[in-house]
Amino acid sequence: MDLGISGRKALVCGASSGLGLACATALVGEGVQVVIVARTEGPLREAAERLNALGPGRADWLAADVASAEGRARIFAAHPDFDIVVTNAGGPPPGDFRQWQREDWIRALDANMLAPIELIKASVDGMMARGFGRIINITSSAVKAPVDGLGLSNGARSGLTGFVAGLARSTVARGVTINNLLPGTFDTARLAGNFAAQAQREGRGVDEVRSARLARHPARRFGRPEELGQACAFLCSQQAGYINGQSLLLDGGSFPGTF
Ligand code: NAP
Repeated sequence: MDLGISGRKALVCGASSGLGLACATALVGEGVQVVIVARTEGPLREAAERLNALGPGRADWLAADVASAEGRARIFAAHPDFDIVVTNAGGPPPGDFRQWQREDWIRALDANMLAPIELIKASVDGMMARGFGRIINITSSAVKAPVDGLGLSNGARSGLTGFVAGLARSTVARGVTINNLLPGTFDTARLAGNFAAQAQREGRGVDEVRSARLARHPARRFGRPEELGQACAFLCSQQAGYINGQSLLLDGGSFPGTF
C-alpha cells in the first residue's frame, strides 16, 4: 500500500537505535526525508548511513538532547517545517518513589512529558497552516497499566497522554493528527537494561528474568522494533487522517483488559 507520504519531511527523535530508529526506517522506506536525532553522534551518523543505503527516502542527522531547550532550538533552527514529528527519548530509570527527589521527577518530566509538548509546540502551528501534519508520541504500555518499579515513567507519560488528548481535538480540522504508540516489551537496548536492573533488584540471573517474562507473555515473544516502526508509518500516512487522539497499544495482547 502506498502511504502517500513520499517526499514529506519528518523529525524522528531518539532515533539512533531501538524504536525511534525503527520508525525512521519505516518512514525512509516510504520515501520520507527524515531527520534523525539522538545525543551521541557516532551511532547516529552510522544509523543515517544505513538508512540512506536503504532509501528510497533520505536521512539527515543532528546530534541533540531533545530534553533540553538548547537541543530543540538547534533542531528547529536547521529544519523549521516538519510534516511529521515522532517524539521519543530514553525512559526514566526504575526505582522506589521513596528514594526519588524533586530533581528525579523533573528529569523524567523533562524527557517524557515536557520535551514532547515543546516539540509539538514548535511544529504544530506550521503543520496546521500547511494543512497536513502527523505527530506520533512514543510512550509506553505503562500509560494503560502501570509498570512496577517504573513510577517515573508511569507518571510522566500519563501526563503527556492527558495533554495531547485535549490538543488533538483542536488540530484535526486543519489536517494535523496526534496519536500515541504504547510499546509493551520490544527487543531493544532499553528492554535489556530493564531486565538487568530487575535481575539485580531480585538477585536473579538476567536470562532467568527474561525467560520468566517470555513464559508469561501471550505471544511468547517480545515485539520486533520494525513492527512498531510500520505502525508508526501507517499512523503518518494519508490514509490515517481520521485516526486522531488515540493511544495504540502494541504489546502482543499482554494487557489483560477487554478494551
Ligand atoms: P533505546 O533502544 O535505549 O533507544 C533510545 C534512543 O533514544 C537512542 O537512540 C538514544 O540515543 C536516544 N535518546 C535517549 N535520550 C535522548 C534524548 N534526551 N534526546 C535525544 N535522543 C535521546 O530505547 P527504546 O527501547 O527504543 O525505547 C524508546 C522509548 O520507548 C523509551 O522512552 C522507552 O522507555 C520507551 N519504551 C520502550 C519499551 C521497550 O520494550 N523497548 C517499552 C515501553 C516503553 P542517545 O542515548 O545517544 O541519545
